[in-house]
Amino acid sequence: MTRSYKHLFGPVPSRRFGRSLGIDLTPFKTCSYDCVFCQLGRTTNHTCKRENYVAVDETIAEIRHWLENDGKADQITLAGSGEPTLHAGFGEILSFVKAHTKTPVAILTNGSMLYLPEVRKAAARADIVKISLSAWDQQSFERVNRPAAGYRFEQLIEGETKFREEFKGRLWLEVFMLEGINASRSDVEKISAFTRQIRPDRVQLNTCVRPPAEDFAHAVPQAAMSDLAGLFNPAAEIIAEYRASDTGEIKVSKEAILEMLQRRPCTAGQIAEVFGMHLNEVAKYIGMLMRSELITATHRNGDVYYFSQKSATK
Ligand code: SF4
Repeated sequence: MTRSYKHLFGPVPSRRFGRSLGIDLTPFKTCSYDCVFCQLGRTTNHTCKRENYVAVDETIAEIRHWLENDGKADQITLAGSGEPTLHAGFGEILSFVKAHTKTPVAILTNGSMLYLPEVRKAAARADIVKISLSAWDQQSFERVNRPAAGYRFEQLIEGETKFREEFKGRLWLEVFMLEGINASRSDVEKISAFTRQIRPDRVQLNTCVRPPAEDFAHAVPQAAMSDLAGLFNPAAEIIAEYRASDTGEIKVSKEAILEMLQRRPCTAGQIAEVFGMHLNEVAKYIGMLMRSELITATHRNGDVYYFSQKSATK
């Protein structure tokens, strides 16, 4: 990226989309959920209130600048540090992106706001909408996703089902599995029954490969994930590890790496892939950022993840 943006980040490594330019429409951890597995930590603004959390004009001006000066990504994604559909103007921003580039546009949403007709209408402008479902009733919903006060599991199911009926694009549904919490055979069969009702184009199984909000959120082993995938019809896919496509180099700087680590923890290998750098070069940048105390490291599943001190203390 050739300049620093307030509302754009990346391109970042995405296990689903390759190198994805992110558009972040909410302040850090503004979300209707407080998922125990959230890689951004605990939710600090736990709300279902929809408003213009960031200025639409300012965001569109940044997107316009990026398209005119860089514009290199496999995907443009509304995602980031909170729930994007809480932004009251996200549909307007989607419309702008769709009108100005052929790069596919996706929204990563927890699906909680899709019970609202205006949110379904706005979200339907995207090419891909990735929704989530990791529970089967109110109790399990509160255990895994910890929704904002008053929000009911039935609202989520109603919204996701209606959205499928109206949306002509690609609908992907992610089930986040946690060992000992929602990953027994009977738990997954109940989740699977709801996915048959919602009818997404793809069901993807995920688990804690990055540091979660809560220490008690543990990854499901790969072999168990493979067995559970067969409980879905058609079989669910286990999200593969991110692999960078070779669409050319992306400009790198210490600031660009720091910006990426402010959004999500990454390994040195992931940084190398997204920026097309040699690991030795990544090590040099990591060293600079560590010495400046801008980032820190944590061990997870045998890997070292780097994350920014800023995101860690929020
Ligand atoms: S994982 Fe997504 S939906 Fe859950 S708390 Fe984090 S940002 Fe919100």
